[in-house]
Amino acid sequence: MDWAFHGEGGDEFAVKNEDAVIETFRAAGPASIQEFAHARRVLAGGVDSPVRAGKPVGMHPPVLCAARGSHVTDADGRDYIDYLCAYGPVLLGHADASVSAAISAAAANGAVFGATHPSEVRLAERIRRHLPSMELLRFVSTGTESCMSAIRVARSFTRRHKIVRFTGNYHGHCDEMIFSAGASSNSNATIAAGITPAAAGNVITLSYNDLAAVAAAFAEHGHEVAAVIVEPVCANMGLVLPIDGYLDGLRRLCDRSGALLIFDEIITGFRLGLGGAQAWCSVKSDLTCIGKVLGGGLPIAAFGGRADVMSVLAPDGEVFQGGTFSGNPLCVAAAHALLDRLEGDPTFYEDLSAKSSQLAAGAKAALEDAGLAYPVVQIASIVDFMFRTGEPHRDYAAARESDAAAYARFYHAMLERGIHLAPSQMEVMFVTAAHTEEDVGRTIAALREALRAGIA
Ligand code: PMP
Repeated sequence: MDWAFHGEGGDEFAVKNEDAVIETFRAAGPASIQEFAHARRVLAGGVDSPVRAGKPVGMHPPVLCAARGSHVTDADGRDYIDYLCAYGPVLLGHADASVSAAISAAAANGAVFGATHPSEVRLAERIRRHLPSMELLRFVSTGTESCMSAIRVARSFTRRHKIVRFTGNYHGHCDEMIFSAGASSNSNATIAAGITPAAAGNVITLSYNDLAAVAAAFAEHGHEVAAVIVEPVCANMGLVLPIDGYLDGLRRLCDRSGALLIFDEIITGFRLGLGGAQAWCSVKSDLTCIGKVLGGGLPIAAFGGRADVMSVLAPDGEVFQGGTFSGNPLCVAAAHALLDRLEGDPTFYEDLSAKSSQLAAGAKAALEDAGLAYPVVQIASIVDFMFRTGEPHRDYAAARESDAAAYARFYHAMLERGIHLAPSQMEVMFVTAAHTEEDVGRTIAALREALRAGIA
C-alpha cells in the first residue's frame, strides 16, 4: 500500500546537534522516574502527547502532581516556578480561585447537557464583543478540532480543496495539519507517518514570513486554494513575530484569489490582549480559531468568523461538524470566570506585559553577561530565546539552526535550580498573572547561574 508514508527521509527537519542530546542527564527525582516507568507500561510512550516524554532534552521531565499559582510540584515533592504553563492555557495562574469556584458551581448543576444552554450563548456573545470578526462561532473542545473544522468550512464555502500553511506553525494533529509543523511534532519520526498522499497533496507548505513564496504559490494554484491558515504571531518554533506587511500581504493575496484567511489564535487569543493578535495587527481574518487560554485550564476552544462563511455549517448548511462535549457547562463556566477577571481588571494585560518585559530584559542581560548573543523575543506574556545568534529568527529553517544540545543542558540546569521550562526549545515561556516579581527575580538569578555553569 503506498499510503505508507511520508515519514521517511525526513532529514531536512533535523535540528542542529540533536544527536548530541544523549540520555546522560540526571533525570528527575526517584518518584518521577518510577511513575514514568509505570506510565510506560500503560500509556503509549508513557505520555498523552509526545513532547511530554522529554526526548528533545534527553530526560523524562518531572511527573507533576499539583499546580498552584505560578508553581508546580512534582512526584518527589519538588517545587518549581512554572513557565511551561501547560503549553499556553494558564493565564491567571494554576488553580485560580475564581475559576475553580465557577467550575465547582457548574458541576453541581450538571456537567454536560447535550443541548444548547444559556451560558454558552452568553459566552459566544462575550467572545464576539472582543473578537468582532467572529460574527458566528461554534464551540469545540480542542484547538485541533477548531482548526480542522475551520478548514472544512473554508473548503465548503470556497468549493476549493487546497490549503496553504507554514512550516513551524502548529494547527493541531489532524492529518493535513501535522506534517512539517512546529512544536512537539518537530521530529523526524513524526513528520507525516500515517498521513495519506491524498491528504498531504492538498496542502501547500511554505516558509513563514515569506510573502513572495505565497504570491508564487497563488500564481500557480490560486484558483484551487480554499484558505491560508497561519499563526499571526507564531509560538510553535520559538516565538516568531510576523515581519511588517506580512499579515496584510496574506490578506491581500487571499482577497485577490478568493481564498479565506484563517487566523489560528489558539495561543494568542486572550493572551495578547482581549482582542488577540488580530487587534494587535489590525488585520481581519475570515475565520479565527481560539482555545487554550479561553477555558482557564479546561478544554474549550472555538472557531468562527464571517456569518456568510459560517452559515455553511449544518443544520443551516451542508457541512457537518459537532461534538458531544462541545460547549459543556463546566468549560463554559470556567471561560466566563476567566473573562470576568480579564474584563474586570483594566490593567491586567499591562501588568502582565510589564512583568514579562522584566523577565525578558533579565534574560537578555544574563545572556549578554555570559557572552551569548542570543536574541530574546517577547510579546505580551510570551517570552523566548533560542540557542542561536543573530537577529531574531523569522522562520522554521532558522529555528532549526538552534543548538538543541545546549538547550537540553540549559533545561536541566534550570530544573535543578527550581525552574520548570518546556522540554523542547521549539516551545516558549508563558508568564501568568500569578507570577510574582520575586518569581521573576529568582528565575533570572537561576538563569545567570545556569549560564555560568557553562551550558552553551
Ligand atoms: N494551534 C496552535 C497555534 C497551537 O499552539 C495548538 C496546541 N499547541 C493547537 C492549534 C492545537 O490545540 P490542541 O492541543 O488543543 O488540540
